[in-house]
Amino acid sequence: MSNNIKNILKDLNPEFETLFDYIEGKVEEINKRIDPSKQKKELFSHEDTMLITYADQFSSEGKSKFSALNDFISDDLGGLISIVHILPFYPWTSDDGFSPVDYQLVDPAYGNWDDVEKLKAKKMFDCVFNHLSSENKYFKDALAGDTEAQQMFHIIDQNMFKSLAFQDFIPKVVRPRTSPLFTPFSFDGETKYVWTTFSGDQVDTNLSNPKMLKYILESFFLYIEKGATYFRVDAVPFIWKELGTNCSHHPKTYKLIQLFRSIIDQINKNLFIVTESNVPHHENISYWGDGENQAHIIYNFSLAPLIIHALTFKTNEYLNKWAEDVFDIFPKTTYLNFTATHDGIGMRGLEGIVPESDVKALCDITEQKDGFVGKKKSRDGTVRPYELNITWASFLSDEKLHEDEFIRKVVNSHAIVMFFPGIGAHYVHNFFATESWIEGREESGIPRRINRKKLPYPINYNDREVKVRDKLLDLIKFKSKNKLFSPKAGFRILDLNPKVLSFERFMGDQSIQVHFNLSEQAIDLGDIKLRSYDIVFK
Ligand code: BGC
Repeated sequence: MSNNIKNILKDLNPEFETLFDYIEGKVEEINKRIDPSKQKKELFSHEDTMLITYADQFSSEGKSKFSALNDFISDDLGGLISIVHILPFYPWTSDDGFSPVDYQLVDPAYGNWDDVEKLKAKKMFDCVFNHLSSENKYFKDALAGDTEAQQMFHIIDQNMFKSLAFQDFIPKVVRPRTSPLFTPFSFDGETKYVWTTFSGDQVDTNLSNPKMLKYILESFFLYIEKGATYFRVDAVPFIWKELGTNCSHHPKTYKLIQLFRSIIDQINKNLFIVTESNVPHHENISYWGDGENQAHIIYNFSLAPLIIHALTFKTNEYLNKWAEDVFDIFPKTTYLNFTATHDGIGMRGLEGIVPESDVKALCDITEQKDGFVGKKKSRDGTVRPYELNITWASFLSDEKLHEDEFIRKVVNSHAIVMFFPGIGAHYVHNFFATESWIEGREESGIPRRINRKKLPYPINYNDREVKVRDKLLDLIKFKSKNKLFSPKAGFRILDLNPKVLSFERFMGDQSIQVHFNLSEQAIDLGDIKLRSYDIVFK
């Protein structure tokens, strides 16, 4: 067993050394059940495409949510999806699942662990280790006065909280919300303040506490045992806190990722750490570490907003410039490339890449189309756009387009992410070009619900939805059959026409070109003719 794990544990907190035997035992136990000869050696493949979905996305009479999802994957998507990211399926109290009451249970409203294991694709689970629901058992014990449980969270007493030094520290903490960082709770009659990065219901875990780390490690091992192969470390930049720092990308946050990575490196199976950090690109890619010691895959947060930027301003200028720089990466790492997600369209990935006035224009379009612009507080105290809460299709809507043109625009803009180096991921609503669900937002008061409509199953498709789904599936099939779209095949931008995104993928002496018309005008590139919003391969 690697000394590395021992050293990382010690660096995180000398008291963690006692966890080493536990980790060693679990790794051995898991390895005994794995036949290493059956494991693929290749880390990343062009055959991989990911579906991002809620566990309860589909409801069907007499079936668990998971079996309805399975039917959707095999029947509606023709089994073309190889990985499914099931958004948090643990019991929860808010944030549509991202406030887990217990990391180790399946919400009975969705099904049980057997159902999860039976999903017909490789699985990505969320590791929401930055926080727990305020209803979780440890926090309840803490509220009842259990001092050991209190150590598992970041709890500040009144005197400290009110001190000038502490009040001075609070605004320096960087985070993606504008809600109060500390939430008052009554601890056995005494008011104390609890660190809540995301909301008053999401109490931050204290990762420097051995009991909390043990609970988190147990959950991580459980996910491995239940068949997860991709581990999405949620909200990674904020995980480790230290008073006096800005608590963003803390050195021990990187150490913690190294701990998870070293553990899975000991397991005889291809398992992947995926870090989710909606921050500017150069900060985001820091989670690859030295290329072999942290994340295998990072969420490519700049690509989605750069695509809507390119389609809005009908220019490849910024997308090209960015893409020329960012795909020359460590051999054992890759990106998760996506358009929309359950959170809408992240905007931080545009910082430093496009002019501020363009960011504002994208926010204005969102608001004109009845969407909402989520905000965050920056280091300097200013409030900046964080994400656009609108569906991808509604953002791209344009009354001037014919139905077929609109479908091409939406489908091809989703598909394009799969042809860039990385693993392509599609949020479930990509397959339907779902329009903004204003009712859902209004009824719930939750802006992100605009993009989270749940559906009955079987789906009663309309004409547009069938066309969108089938065209996207055709492109997925085409990509999955072509090794030149392997995440590790070469990539180069071709600068042919400002209104066309053109690039080439290559391997040895073979290559394929991809051309995507960013405008509604027909464009002639010589031997390649592009209709409006066409995608053409050569
Ligand atoms: C998730 C959000 C969630 C936040 C806090 C993000 O990574 O995608 O939906 O609100 O983390 O858990």
